[in-house]
Amino acid sequence: MAQDELFKNIIAHTKEYGYIFQSSELYDGLGAVYDYGQYGAELKNNIKQYWWKAMVQMNENIVGIDSAIFMHPTVWKASGHVDAFNDPLIDNKDSKKRYRADVLIEEYREKLNQKIEKEVEKAQKRFGDSFDKATFVSTNANVLRYQSEIDTLTKRFQAALENSNLEDLKQIIIDCEIACPISGTKNWTEVRQFNLMFGTELGSVAGDSSTIYLRPETAQGIFVNYLNVQKTGRMRIPFGIAQIGKAFRNEIVARQFIFRMREFEQMEMQFFVKPGEEMKWFEHWKTVRRNWHLALGFSEKRYRMHDHDKLAHYANAATDIEFEFPFGFKELEGIHSRTDFDLSQHQTFSGKKIQYFDNELNESYVPYVVETSVGLDRTFLSLLSNAYAEETITKEDGSTDQRVVLKIPAPLAPVKVTVMPLVKKDGLPELAREILKSLQFEHNCQYDEKDSIGKRYRRQDAIGTPFCVTVDHDSLTDQKVTIRHRDSMLQERVSISELEKIISYQVSMTRLLEKL
Ligand code: ATP
Repeated sequence: MAQDELFKNIIAHTKEYGYIFQSSELYDGLGAVYDYGQYGAELKNNIKQYWWKAMVQMNENIVGIDSAIFMHPTVWKASGHVDAFNDPLIDNKDSKKRYRADVLIEEYREKLNQKIEKEVEKAQKRFGDSFDKATFVSTNANVLRYQSEIDTLTKRFQAALENSNLEDLKQIIIDCEIACPISGTKNWTEVRQFNLMFGTELGSVAGDSSTIYLRPETAQGIFVNYLNVQKTGRMRIPFGIAQIGKAFRNEIVARQFIFRMREFEQMEMQFFVKPGEEMKWFEHWKTVRRNWHLALGFSEKRYRMHDHDKLAHYANAATDIEFEFPFGFKELEGIHSRTDFDLSQHQTFSGKKIQYFDNELNESYVPYVVETSVGLDRTFLSLLSNAYAEETITKEDGSTDQRVVLKIPAPLAPVKVTVMPLVKKDGLPELAREILKSLQFEHNCQYDEKDSIGKRYRRQDAIGTPFCVTVDHDSLTDQKVTIRHRDSMLQERVSISELEKIISYQVSMTRLLEKL
């Protein structure tokens, strides 16, 4: 299936099955803002829990906080967001569509990469087992031409971004003959900078002095609480502060579902280290965070590390963990070495000393920071992209059927188990409800007695329930039930007395955490 068709199907599926709705749909929606439905909210909570446990619970030197969305306006002056949190935007004069100039160029570069991959694939087919990829890419004329174009473009692009050279960004778009995907024309406006922060007024007095911002990242809430947490928690460096919370960005381009939203959630951790040790910790957190994603059990090939072309104003090293979304490899998480930029800036702007007294060195310093920042919504989308499958299945009588299944790892699945009486009579519903009650203490469960068992399985597959438990007539006498496994569709007969233990083992977050 084509990737854009797959993406459309995933979006339609999340709506149809109560995962994600367009915000204010009743009023035709609000651009790039989404609501999570009954299953979406559960999945989101489970992802948060997986992150919180992996970062806070499993690390004795990391603690978690929950800071306010509203902060003193000077925080954003100090952090550089008022002056530098901009994206370069460009409009197509014919379609009137707005784009991020840097994204247009990155997409063009990615197309060149894909052309190289196609050449490699073609050659691989032609040469079979004797194919030597390294020799091919270093000698094939087409590949060399594409690669040279990529290298020249990357250098020029990087320089234009670093120098905020907006004229050259536009010139790159012209020179690469990038056309608007909607109108197909190359009729572009100039490139302009656009600040992504949402401003609002605090209290009843209007005017500049009372303008406050909806936070564009959760990190600053951690920085301004560094001293509070360090002192009250008697934290010794190296240590981390984690938090999960909403962030807001007035994104220019917002066309990729929950990938780029104007209101979203971040899961961030700032790790405070001794100056000079940041690169060691940067490498450490790159590995740890990659493993956190891989522990979900999906193909490693869909994740890659990508070093930044342009470093943000605060960073001395930065890597993205990219995921292969249906629309290509894109950033899922950022790992940034932020130096002492933020704490030093807050020290300067607040006039208060923000330092750490190192007993071993017998001196004070402003700690350096390594940050891990992952989007909750992007993690959600990566999970759905991995988990969504359309399958043809063969039934017992040899006929075939279609199913859409969400193969969400059991510990994260919104509903863990659905209990079903085979028929709606003969005391089966009563026993099924009894079993349901015993499982509900620990797990989010459902009860379903409508339609055929096959139809009920399809419904549970569609929302990703890992286990269905069927109560039949034999259950009344042998005290056993049938567990049906979502992914393998295998069925096994187990004692009712064992059920809780079996399910709890499979759906426990421990299954994920012990892989880290
Ligand atoms: P991008 O280049 O895609 O705009 P970014 O580099 O600006 O992302 P960061 O500032 O590093 O992103 O934010 C950390 C994480 O927050 C990102 O890796 C992403 O998962 C998430 N994130 C950022 N912006 C958005 C958004 N508009 N919608 C959803 N998630 C976002």
